[in-house]
Amino acid sequence: MSKKELLDAVATEVIVCMKCSLWKTRKNAVPGEGNYESPIMFIGEAPGYWEDIRGKPFVGDAGKFLDSLLSEIDFSRENVFICNVLKCRPPKNREPMPNEIQTCTPYLDRQIRAIQPKFIVTLGNYSTVYIFSKAGLPFNSITQAHGKFYETSILDINVIAFPTFHPAAALYNAKYKEQITSDFKLLGQELEKRGVIK
Ligand code: URA
Ligand code: SF4
Repeated sequence: MSKKELLDAVATEVIVCMKCSLWKTRKNAVPGEGNYESPIMFIGEAPGYWEDIRGKPFVGDAGKFLDSLLSEIDFSRENVFICNVLKCRPPKNREPMPNEIQTCTPYLDRQIRAIQPKFIVTLGNYSTVYIFSKAGLPFNSITQAHGKFYETSILDINVIAFPTFHPAAALYNAKYKEQITSDFKLLGQELEKRGVIK
C-alpha cells in the first residue's frame, strides 16, 4: 500500500473510533493532516476546542503560532505532516489520561510507520514522553530535553527526534515563546544543512 492509502486508512478508522471514552464528548476526531511525502512530522498533544469543531489539527491560536514558527523557517503546514498523540479532544482540554494514550497511540504508530519520517518534532510534554519512551531515551523534563537533536530509532525507523515546547504553552509564557522560537531556528538550520526540501 502507498503512504496515502495507509494514512487514509488510519483517518477513516479514527473518525469513527470508539475505543476510548473520548468519542462520547467529541464533535470531530482529528486524525492529522499534511504532506504525506514529508520527511518531517510534528506531533502535538490532543485536539482543543477549534480542532474538535473543525476536525483539523492546530487550527486555533496555538495553530496560528505554529504557522508563524513554520513560516519563519520557510516552511508551511503544506510541507509537513501534523498530528497529535490523542485524536479526540479531552473534555475542557484536560490532560490526556494514561489509558487514553495507550488506547489511541496505535494510530500514531501507524502514521509514523506510513510516513517513515526523517525528523519527528515533538511539541510539548506528552508527545515527547511518548516518542522518548519508544526510542528508549530517558526523559526528565521538556525544559531539559528541548532544542536538541536525538538520532535514534523508533518503530525500527531511524529518525531524528527534536523536542520543543508546546506552542499553546508558549502563548502564555514569554520565556517558552522565546525558547520555542530559537528551537525552530535551530531546526531550520539543521534541515537546511541536511538538504531537507520544503
Ligand atoms: N494543541 C495540540 O496539542 N494539538 C492541536 O491540534 C491543537 C492544540
Ligand atoms: Fe479512538 Fe483515540 Fe478518539 Fe479514543 S481518542 S476514541 S482511541 S481516536
